[in-house]
Amino acid sequence: MANNREDYLLVIWEFSESFGFARERDIVKRLKISAATASEYLKKMEDEGIITRDGRRIRLTEKGEKLAIPVVRTHRIVEVFSHQLLETPWEDAHSSVMELEHLFSDKKGEVLYRHLGEPDVCPHGNPINPIEKRDEIRASEAKPGVYIFLRTTYEDENFLRSLSEAGIIPGEEVEVRPDQTIKGPRGILTSDARELDALRLIKKKS
Ligand SMILES: [Zn+2]
Repeated sequence: MANNREDYLLVIWEFSESFGFARERDIVKRLKISAATASEYLKKMEDEGIITRDGRRIRLTEKGEKLAIPVVRTHRIVEVFSHQLLETPWEDAHSSVMELEHLFSDKKGEVLYRHLGEPDVCPHGNPINPIEKRDEIRASEAKPGVYIFLRTTYEDENFLRSLSEAGIIPGEEVEVRPDQTIKGPRGILTSDARELDALRLIKKKS
């Protein structure tokens, strides 16, 4: 797998949006690279003022965010393309485009976006405009009750699969149970507490 700055930006954005920061081991695991490779590249990004490090916590600087926004946007557009037109299963839509998206410049990404009918969100519910603010709550902070599942910011393949198996996909009704598990239309999600930070819900209107 060819890795470049875009892949690092995308992963750091995803983990930061999900959990507040990325860790070196998250990047190593997701990009399937060695710790030495990651460490060397992250050092370079730090020197260039793209990321900051606070112990193990890696975050994008303002400069880094500016660079990441078009990358995240193109990624989400290509995900829609892959899911809708190539019939890639929902849980594979993220990983399947990690190569494909490099073929699209920002300009070509915008052409594709138009041809897709200007979708608002990626298959996982994340806004095509990465900085769009949403009225949502984290599943980790939700009181027991019925909600509409809006999105998952964490797009790990195995996690997406367990969401899909429980029927927890955007637009579906879910129940946050008193023990903090989440019941979807097809089953109950078993996930660790950290992952619940990545699940965003809106209260069901009664
Ligand atoms: Zn997505």
